[in-house]
Amino acid sequence: QQAVEALERLVRDVPDFPEPGIVFKDITPLLADPAGFRVVVDALAAVGRGDDGTPVVDKVVGMEARGFMFAAPVALALGVGFVPVRKAGKLPHATHEVAYELEYGEAVLQLHQDALAPGDRVLIVDDVLATGGTAQATCELVARCGARPVAFAVLMELGFLAGRDALGDVPVTALVTAP
Ligand code: 5GP
Repeated sequence: QQAVEALERLVRDVPDFPEPGIVFKDITPLLADPAGFRVVVDALAAVGRGDDGTPVVDKVVGMEARGFMFAAPVALALGVGFVPVRKAGKLPHATHEVAYELEYGEAVLQLHQDALAPGDRVLIVDDVLATGGTAQATCELVARCGARPVAFAVLMELGFLAGRDALGDVPVTALVTAP
């Protein structure tokens, strides 16, 4: 519990970023703190382990760009592969793609078609869960490969946005909930 409280202090509120009225959760102080970063990676990786401590997922999927910073070390900690979900036009091979609504306009996320095998159990990892749009689109991309999103793990959830409701029956673990 003490470790988790320390984490909150390592995420900085930046008012009016990226636009007036938004309070942005800045994770860069956490990334710069090796002890805090370690606590987060271990706690997120624990979501992908069974009661006996062995991994119960086949892949970890992370979303561009801050999701990569947590998902890649989580995959290494679990000893499973890391798979990137990227914004449109970045992945070189054949992709699945999903468009989703932003507050203003639309975003497109892509995943390599051969990155996940049918039946793969997938842990999705990101830094912050806000409206849930990114997480929902990622679940859909995983499903397009015939794989199963079995858990979603995130450092911080913005509770007032109720993003976890967008995840349906995929269980959500947030290490910290901002009220
Ligand atoms: P959502 O799709 O849930 O509305 O937004 C979540 C996505 O946007 C995540 O991939 C996350 O990286 C990014 N995001 C949204 N708000 C914040 C924030 O306040 N801080 C950080 N670090 N990322 C955010």
